[in-house]
Amino acid sequence: MIAEIISVGTEILLGNILNTNARYLAGKLASAGIEVHFQTVVGDNPSRIMDAVKIAYTRADMVIMTGGLGPTKDDITKEMLAEYFHSSLVYDETAISMMEETLQRTRKESLLQSLKKQALVPENAKVLYNHHGLAPGIIMEDEDKICILLPGPPKEMEPMFEEYCFPYLVEKSHQVLVSLNIKLLDFDHAPVIKVGEAPVADVLGDLLDSQNPTVATYAKDDGCLIRLTALAADRKAALAMLYPLAEKIRSIIGTEYINYMEEEE
Ligand code: ATP
Repeated sequence: MIAEIISVGTEILLGNILNTNARYLAGKLASAGIEVHFQTVVGDNPSRIMDAVKIAYTRADMVIMTGGLGPTKDDITKEMLAEYFHSSLVYDETAISMMEETLQRTRKESLLQSLKKQALVPENAKVLYNHHGLAPGIIMEDEDKICILLPGPPKEMEPMFEEYCFPYLVEKSHQVLVSLNIKLLDFDHAPVIKVGEAPVADVLGDLLDSQNPTVATYAKDDGCLIRLTALAADRKAALAMLYPLAEKIRSIIGTEYINYMEEEE
């Protein structure tokens, strides 16, 4: 399964905020065994959002969008999605009562009509309730496409993703991607000829072409990192593929040049 992440928000395009949502989602999708080939950022503009969605579905089965679920006129992600899926927007009564309860509890305010816009969801969508804010998230599915809409604020988006989306995605993909990192010593503690990225790649040779698990080297500021990654039915099976390979690599490099080895969360 291939997913594309679309981050909606003019603030991201202008560099006013850092796109931490895309980084978070990319990591989570990888660990759910879902490939991401493209990430897109688009401003709060209806026709450009629609273009981004259409382009994404030419190269992905699933689109995950964040941002633009708020109550104001420039929050139009949901409207664009409903239009794309030829669906109409209807009020979700549970979302309305949850919003009323949250506003009473946190701000002692009642739900203004303008805020109710956030409880509009496309017909037939699965609604993801927001326990840390107001706007619900949405999952839309048709025969060959899935779309997940999540709120922009990370403190709302991340718990919603953990609670509803991650289990849903693992079930869809039937696999997980697990990485094991082998960090070498830095250059102050070992000769470059032993721990630099190029010499390490040389001694690893054909192992760098392995397909599953894959082996990749990265030059970090504090020394070379070797990341082994396996795709398997579950974490246990992935680790059973990774550890024997890690031992082989450790013995090729020399355990005295290894700073630490750890499973990536
Ligand atoms: P709201 O109801 O707050 O309007 P929303 O779902 O409409 O939420 P946006 O209006 O697009 O989301 O963004 C609200 C805030 O969320 C931004 O000001 C920013 O702080 C944060 N945010 C949005 N998108 C991202 C992103 N991709 N990465 C990190 N933070 C983001």
